[in-house]
Amino acid sequence: MLYQVSTIDALLLGVYDGVLPVSDLKTHGDFGIGTFDGLEGEMLALDGNYYQIKTDGIAYPVSGEITTPFATVTYFEADETFRLEKSANLSELENLFYAVKVDGNFSYVKARSVPRQEKPYLQLADAVSSQSVFEFENVSGTLVGFRTPEYVKGVNVPGYHLHFITENRSAGGHVLDLEMEKGDAALDITSIFLMELPASGDFYNAELGQNLQEDLEKVEK
Ligand SMILES: [Zn+2]
Repeated sequence: MLYQVSTIDALLLGVYDGVLPVSDLKTHGDFGIGTFDGLEGEMLALDGNYYQIKTDGIAYPVSGEITTPFATVTYFEADETFRLEKSANLSELENLFYAVKVDGNFSYVKARSVPRQEKPYLQLADAVSSQSVFEFENVSGTLVGFRTPEYVKGVNVPGYHLHFITENRSAGGHVLDLEMEKGDAALDITSIFLMELPASGDFYNAELGQNLQEDLEKVEK
């Protein structure tokens, strides 16, 4: 099962207040990605450990009290595994949700993190103008994320959304670009998708009927 808090479009519109403690999120998965209250950094969960990658690029262990406004997690169990060689593409299972884990060697990874936002919140496309970008060269580490189908537009990020953490679990970020030397990929295909929406706050009045594709592209690339 894939468990999600809120929607990507709510995040794009600046709904950054945390609504679920990480201690609760942990009961829904040991693997995943997201962000934190006030958009404070990138979330990455791997092997049951939750990390907060702040604007210094460092991956900090997360305490249970901190909350999330948007996250997607699952209990990772590989359904398919395969070796990826240089410039290989991850095959796409068009209509399915799946978690993606790649342990690999990368000649290049470009990642980012975003600073905590103050109210009134800017929309995400504007908030990312203050992001920090990190470039890793010849680094070993793990890609953690999801591939979601085109039809979830507005709810999650269609296609791949990946975060990165180094092999010693000390640094990483939201992946903007990468070049892989080789990697061991594992896919966890999930047929159940559970979404929990905020029960109060800015979510109630966000204009979620809009097409925010352009904003999403600005934010992801
Ligand atoms: Zn991300």
